[in-house]
Amino acid sequence: MDTDSISVFAERKGQILVAGSGQETISCDKQSLSGAVSQRACVFCGARVVLYPIADALHLVHGPIGCAAYTWDIRGALSSGPELHRMSFSTDMREREVIFGAEKKLEQSLRELIEKYQPKGAFVYSTCVAGVIGDDIEAVCKRVEKDVGIPVIAVQSEGFKGNKRAGYSAACKAIDRLVGTGDTTGIGPLSINILGDFNLAGEIWLIRQYYEKMGLQVVANITGDGRIDDIRKSHGAKLNVVQCSGATMELAKYMKEKHDVPFLRVSYFGIEDMAESLYAVARHFQDVDWQVMERARKIVADELLTLVPEMKALKKRLQGKTAAIYVGGAFKAFSLIKAFRHLGMKVTLVGSQTGTEEDYREIQQVCDPGTVIVDDANPLELGAFLRDNDVDILVGGVKERPIAYKLGLGFCDHNHERKLALEGFLGMRNFAKEVAATVESPIWRLVPRRIGRTTAGTAHSTEVVGKES
Ligand code: SF4
Repeated sequence: MDTDSISVFAERKGQILVAGSGQETISCDKQSLSGAVSQRACVFCGARVVLYPIADALHLVHGPIGCAAYTWDIRGALSSGPELHRMSFSTDMREREVIFGAEKKLEQSLRELIEKYQPKGAFVYSTCVAGVIGDDIEAVCKRVEKDVGIPVIAVQSEGFKGNKRAGYSAACKAIDRLVGTGDTTGIGPLSINILGDFNLAGEIWLIRQYYEKMGLQVVANITGDGRIDDIRKSHGAKLNVVQCSGATMELAKYMKEKHDVPFLRVSYFGIEDMAESLYAVARHFQDVDWQVMERARKIVADELLTLVPEMKALKKRLQGKTAAIYVGGAFKAFSLIKAFRHLGMKVTLVGSQTGTEEDYREIQQVCDPGTVIVDDANPLELGAFLRDNDVDILVGGVKERPIAYKLGLGFCDHNHERKLALEGFLGMRNFAKEVAATVESPIWRLVPRRIGRTTAGTAHSTEVVGKES
């Protein structure tokens, strides 16, 4: 794809590359360019979305009400029990506190909320204003913790102090405060923690089922459907299985250093990556129980028996269509590129908000020559790339959806708020069906730039969509 026709700020040129063009490195993992209107969220939001699914914790946002409203219930992270995480508490800082300090209000709010809701732990998020006026959140948390007998943890997530990745780091530091404080009695030699899954649409339940069928004990979900007490004893598990490169990798590294828990990086999206996740974990425990691998193979074989024929049928319909991917963490993009390949589709644009140099190197290796790779894009750039390339579907999150729809493109939500499980073998089936239904929708033929471009492919699709509905 040619990017010369697209107008990009001079300072951002290094953050875009075309695979196979000879340019090897991409500039990334840095502050967004002022005025470029990045798609990224702030540090506070990064921390909030990682900790949010811990369902029996109190989450108190220390700042003006906007920060809490902006992140209220934005993840479709389900809980099998308590749902305290879905409440968005805020100290609602006003002008008076901004001038005279808000520590008193914070302490009062914390004590009142803990007494009322009896949580197992509390997270107090620092926002921009709390950072600027210099409230000592750490001191307040320590004081309250001493009296109430539950962990009360300050999350140093002032919005201005970096990008969303710094928020992940703040969240990992907060969780690290809990790890190692619980009793590990009863944790066996075949035990794991699941890191980096947020239980969107119940996905962690699906993944837990696979591991449990393999004979493994899941000690803690970190953080989807998470519980404070499970996290406190998670250092007793024998392996951390970490999904996604960004959100919880730092925690896995802390746990390796402090508690000698090794970790594996996996992805639950797509057929190969899901299967390889199970095999990798099985290989880790092979010396303890050789049958773990047998059980993993059986799970994969049983699932593929029905999934492969369905995928073949969908591939016939989607062959030759094109897709663009713009996601938060780059790790998800690897699996998505492979998933689209299974559907016979070509990925022409891949981007992420928080990818690292290593992530982008790996993306270059898995994508086709000519694919545009972009770091920390903005709506205008994305819109220009998509329009120039006339892709059939964009995969992204809540902020990318309007870009796609304004351009008259299909869109697949692969982020926080979705209601459809996309992980695991079931997730691949759901993803493929959603892509087919979206790409083949007859509505796209009415988009002005596509009027008159009906093809045999679209005529066939219309029929199928009609049948399904
Ligand atoms: S922390 Fe700062 S950047 Fe983030 S929502 Fe609050 S005010 Fe905005």
